[in-house]
Amino acid sequence: MRAVLLSIGRRVRRFPSVSATVGVGLVALIMTAAGLGEVARIGVTVFVIGIAALQLWQMVRQFRGGHWGLDVLSVLAIASTVAVGEYWAALVVALMITGGGALESYASARARSQMDALMQRTPRVAHRVDDSGTVSDIEVDAVMVGDVLLVKPGEMVPVDGELIDGPAEFDQSSITGESLPVELTTGATAPSGSVNGDRAIRLRAVSIAGDSQYQLIVALVADAASTKARFVRIADRVSIPFTGVALGLAALGWALSGDPVRAAEVLVAATPCPLLIAAPVAFVAGMGNAARNGVIIKSGDSLEALAHPRTVTFDKTGTLTGGAPRVERIDPVAGTTVAQVLSLAAGAEALSPHVLARAVVDAAAEAGIAGDDLTEVREQPGAGVLADRAGEAVRVGKPAFVLDGRQDPFPLLPLGDTAIAVSLAGIIIGRIVLRDQIRPEARGVVAGLRALGVPRIAMLTGDAERTAFHVAEQLGIDEVHADLLPADKVRIVAAAPERPVVMVGDGVNDAPVLAAADVGVAMGARGATAASESADVVILLDNLDRLDVAIAIARRTMRIATQSIWIGIGLSLALMLAATTGVVPAIVGALAQEVIDVVTILNGLRAMRNPR
Ligand code: ADP
Ligand code: MG
Repeated sequence: MRAVLLSIGRRVRRFPSVSATVGVGLVALIMTAAGLGEVARIGVTVFVIGIAALQLWQMVRQFRGGHWGLDVLSVLAIASTVAVGEYWAALVVALMITGGGALESYASARARSQMDALMQRTPRVAHRVDDSGTVSDIEVDAVMVGDVLLVKPGEMVPVDGELIDGPAEFDQSSITGESLPVELTTGATAPSGSVNGDRAIRLRAVSIAGDSQYQLIVALVADAASTKARFVRIADRVSIPFTGVALGLAALGWALSGDPVRAAEVLVAATPCPLLIAAPVAFVAGMGNAARNGVIIKSGDSLEALAHPRTVTFDKTGTLTGGAPRVERIDPVAGTTVAQVLSLAAGAEALSPHVLARAVVDAAAEAGIAGDDLTEVREQPGAGVLADRAGEAVRVGKPAFVLDGRQDPFPLLPLGDTAIAVSLAGIIIGRIVLRDQIRPEARGVVAGLRALGVPRIAMLTGDAERTAFHVAEQLGIDEVHADLLPADKVRIVAAAPERPVVMVGDGVNDAPVLAAADVGVAMGARGATAASESADVVILLDNLDRLDVAIAIARRTMRIATQSIWIGIGLSLALMLAATTGVVPAIVGALAQEVIDVVTILNGLRAMRNPR
């Protein structure tokens, strides 16, 4: 009993205007029962006029801000019911106005619950092991790069760390959506947010908390959830005609009956809630569901565009081809050695975020070869790296870029292999051959897009035509643009006639083209890359099949949002029509309209669940 009272107390404090409305209603009921009907009538009338005035004031403010809302209907509903003396109905409309906010905050809290759960799990403490082996608990923010941290069984990894005593299993579902545990070996990096298996392990911190995976993802999600999304598009389209119809029916009812009460009966049945609350709730719920599935959708606009893309373009390297290409072999020219080629290349690629660069650096580390010390290292996006070694120019990258017009000394590679050429002082010293395999899921994803009815699917790549066509052919992509510079990709995407355009990139050197697309999708578990900031959608799991999942979720969310709106408007119209003929008393109409609100909002919450 006490608990119930306390929880009621909390709600009263949180929603004072709703409580006031209910309180006024109760007092008025009691007074009416006690024979003080006249006093109750005056009290209720004054109260609802106050509510209507407040609402009107807000409306004027919004109108000044360039928004024309549906609230005019609720103000008219109160004004007309008061005018004809239907003060109980007026009170129910006041309840709808004040309760709308409460209902909205309940529904959006529910809709956001998945995102909130993600944020609340952020690790706060780390167990630091000092040189003598003593373990002490410190704040996560106090962890420094190089600290050795103990992670107990079942605990969350606090910051990105290199595994010291592997192998160990981690559950990475909270950061990538991947439900199977991942086994990491000694030296591999466990991202923060992954959950340790059943054995205590030690890690060496490689990032501070602010730069760690989980914290970056949480920041992304928090950003997405707080951008007051502009779901108003559908609402805007519908609100003026809806208001017009409601006013028309009210006038018709009045004309037919010769009684202004009829007009009030029509107006109380016109409810704007489905438009104003149900659709936004569906959007937030859909975004929360996507996050749970490893996809961060940053805004309502992106979600809407993602639901029905007319063009989908893919970057090739790192997006359609494997996330982890491997160095197959190294071909030095006569007079140089494998080690010379590899150390020069590794020196140049050390700081490049490109997927192929990482493969080269890894291969050198595995072979125990240190990268050369280079100066003036600059990346030429979509081509390779330029640098300087003791006054001699170094180039590492795609053959066309490194050869710079000269004859290639090497024979053509079989299809499926990729070469990185290496030159020193303008002379080719060797090439690195990599196998950059097509992602196993890519073919299915392209087929899935066709099944969803996407009319245009294209590949945009900086790679040479021969490789590009080979990959495209295996994936069933019939439109290929090869040998592109980043600026060419932007031009093609910006000029695409069939919109919205979705561009899927690996999120490393694709920032400009991701920003140019209507929906830029950044792939890969590295939620933190520069491109993720220019992307509208970030796929946390390193798996292309999330694209289809994201589109399916966006579609279902849009369907539910639109459905909520039309159910609400349909029921409301039916109620108004009935009221026009005079069969719905004002109080019944006002209560029925309240039921319509709840139904449409609950329907909107369905977007939290996965599509089949
Ligand atoms: P895509 O458009 O297919 O993703 P990119 O634009 O990333 O390809 O790069 C185009 C080509 O340039 C790649 O296929 C690769 O051969 C080469 N390349 C780009 N950057 C680098 C780099 N840092 N190291 C080696 N090769 C690179
Ligand atoms: Mg790429």
